[in-house]
Amino acid sequence: MPSFQSLGLIAKLVKAVSARGYTEPTPIQAKAIPAILDGRDVMGGAQTGTGKTAAFALPILQHLFVNRSGGKAPRALVLTPTRELAAQVEESIFGYSKGMGIYSCAIYGGVKMPPQVAKLRRGVGVVVATPGRLLDHASGGTVDLSCVEVLVLDEADRMLDMGFMPDIRK
Ligand code: AMP
Repeated sequence: MPSFQSLGLIAKLVKAVSARGYTEPTPIQAKAIPAILDGRDVMGGAQTGTGKTAAFALPILQHLFVNRSGGKAPRALVLTPTRELAAQVEESIFGYSKGMGIYSCAIYGGVKMPPQVAKLRRGVGVVVATPGRLLDHASGGTVDLSCVEVLVLDEADRMLDMGFMPDIRK
């Protein structure tokens, strides 16, 4: 089994995962992390609970950290089918990114807009969002998606089942 380090992750992130008690990468992490670090497009499939979030979150954080930019607009966008998943994914990213100076926020409906606007305005590297609320921010001019370099469609199959395709295309 490869180690996190042998997948190409920087020491900071290897520390972050060992601090969480991960001793070795899961199969999807072993396959996806080197490919994403290489800048390739990846489509991954694995059961829930097999470490998919870290499989995309770790290489994204590494990319943002290694290629720092002074901008405030998000450079990575993760779309999820549900609010619960958006909150959960953002929490994981928050955990892995501690001490890296990379900020993230979750953007989803059913809650007030102003706190989300305030976070976006302060500047975030990673936005985790449900499509509908993200479009509300985009049309209101409160999120600038012109700097997005990495796009993740989390649980893409479920998003398609839920009829999000028109929103995702937009
Ligand atoms: P996920 O499939 O992304 O929802 O992750 C499921 C759970 O596995 C989460 O609680 C993660 O913190 C945990 N996890 C992710 N990667 C690893 C790993 N390499 N070793 C142990 N636990 C992990």
